[in-house]
Amino acid sequence: MSNQKSAIVIGAGVAGMAVAIRLAIQGFSVDVYEKNNCPGGKLTAFEKDGFQFDAGPSLFTQPQNLEELFSDAGETLNDYLNYESVPVSCKYFFENGKQINAFANAESFANEAEAVAGEPIQNVLNYLSASQKLYNRIGIIFLNHPINKGKTWLSKNVLRALPAVKFAYLFKSLSQYNSRKFKTHELRQIFNRFATYNGSNPFKAPAMLSLIPHLEMNQGVFYPKAGMVSITNALYSLAKKKGVQFHFNAPVQHIIHTEGIAKGIVINNENKIASLVVSNVDSYFTWQQLVGRLDKVKKIERQERSSSALVFYWGINKRMNELGLHNIFFSKHYKEEFEAIFNHKKISSDPTIYINITSKYDTAHAPAGKENWFVMVNVPAGCDDWELKQQQIKQSIIEKLNRLLQTDIEPLIESETILNPTLIELQTGSYLGALYGASSNTKMAAFKRQPNSGDLRNLYFCGGTVHPGGGIPLCLKSAAITANLIAQDQKKYQHH
Ligand SMILES: Cc1cc2nc3c(=O)[nH]c(=O)nc-3n(C[C@H](O)[C@H](O)[C@H](O)COP(=O)(O)OP(=O)(O)OC[C@H]3O[C@@H](n4cnc5c(N)ncnc54)[C@H](O)[C@@H]3O)c2cc1C
Repeated sequence: MSNQKSAIVIGAGVAGMAVAIRLAIQGFSVDVYEKNNCPGGKLTAFEKDGFQFDAGPSLFTQPQNLEELFSDAGETLNDYLNYESVPVSCKYFFENGKQINAFANAESFANEAEAVAGEPIQNVLNYLSASQKLYNRIGIIFLNHPINKGKTWLSKNVLRALPAVKFAYLFKSLSQYNSRKFKTHELRQIFNRFATYNGSNPFKAPAMLSLIPHLEMNQGVFYPKAGMVSITNALYSLAKKKGVQFHFNAPVQHIIHTEGIAKGIVINNENKIASLVVSNVDSYFTWQQLVGRLDKVKKIERQERSSSALVFYWGINKRMNELGLHNIFFSKHYKEEFEAIFNHKKISSDPTIYINITSKYDTAHAPAGKENWFVMVNVPAGCDDWELKQQQIKQSIIEKLNRLLQTDIEPLIESETILNPTLIELQTGSYLGALYGASSNTKMAAFKRQPNSGDLRNLYFCGGTVHPGGGIPLCLKSAAITANLIAQDQKKYQHH
């Protein structure tokens, strides 16, 4: 009988595949069980009426997380995935008719902000430099280490970082902070929007989130050739090359555990035993359906969910030169939009609209002379009656786009597919369809996320609902943290 250690990973999302690769590198035989018929979880793509769409994530930052994973596996990312930097990270459209290009180059962006909105150049440059310092001193400690280990908080780096933790970062909201840093409404709104990168409300989330712009505006936005799904394809190919076994159409029913130790899983009413189990499933469903721990379920229920999304995938029968890869049409009443989402579980009648058009970079994603529009608005997690609501929201979107683009959009829509929170929960097992698990609307929220280990011996967690958070960069970091914890635990248990 082989002495090889075995690991089971439940879920083939980005983090599930990344942790599988890292465990294979450590010498585990790894089996990934995925309920869907393909890898990727939220990060997949589909084709309809000659248009190709990325189904979920569209913004790619921090490719260094992928570079590092591939290099740790002895491979070169470029052999699997090519990406290029995007010169304008986002085009912002305001109801007052102003348009601001967020150039990837900080000076160019600051000049644009001054020319269009009248924001002093130095305000933008100072903000981005503070954002960089915050990320480099605090962000990297928090995002690269386990949250529940004393070692993380007792290191020299933490002591060195403490002076950088200003009162404002913890006790002011992002919006209060931005109001002090910027003079103009336009720049405040652009920088408030970064709270939505983890599904939070800028009028409540702590100013600590002001470190997020560093990732986009200093480090840059990138476009993976052939679309975001290439990230899934690259991870899947690497995992297979490293010997990971994938099982699709394989919903795990239960995690076997006795006396506080995870022993394997039940699938098709059959027990599969392994040295350890990693769950890439939403932590709510891991505890509720797979482990059966009501105390944990109740704790998660008390944490406010991040926002969800309503997405219209439109095949547009025209090319619009005024649009770029990422475009934002801001709500006129931004605060009300978030109050509607988080306080009233409703959608504002004037929602901020995000449009992503990959055919700007990959012409093969749309027929000649046409474009593939991924049109998204933030909506509350949960809620039902989407059939009715989505038609009302579609009308608000069309009216706003017609107004700001001076056009008539409706006759140009020749193909439509819709994704709503109910479908997100159904397709990717995400509790209430929240995009990023719990929101970061309180200063303690980041510390209350599900840790990567520690509840049951030999059960580990990775993915967007656990530490350090949602989104592709953080999911890749969560896989690295989890794999490191496993390596340390293996050493510890060997010595006992
Ligand atoms: C519309 C949308 C837009 C987004 N935009 C961005 C963006 O621009 N940039 C960004 O970085 N992030 C974005 N995100 C968030 C990002 O997609 C997620 O944070 C990330 O993909 C989550 O990855 P994960 O590893 O947690 O796994 P998930 O993608 O959540 O996958 C979990 C997997 O587990 C499987 N599973 C569940 N239960 C079981 C079971 N019992 N047995 C077996 N398998 C099971 C599911 O089928 C799924 O495949 C967006 C998400 C959505 C939906």
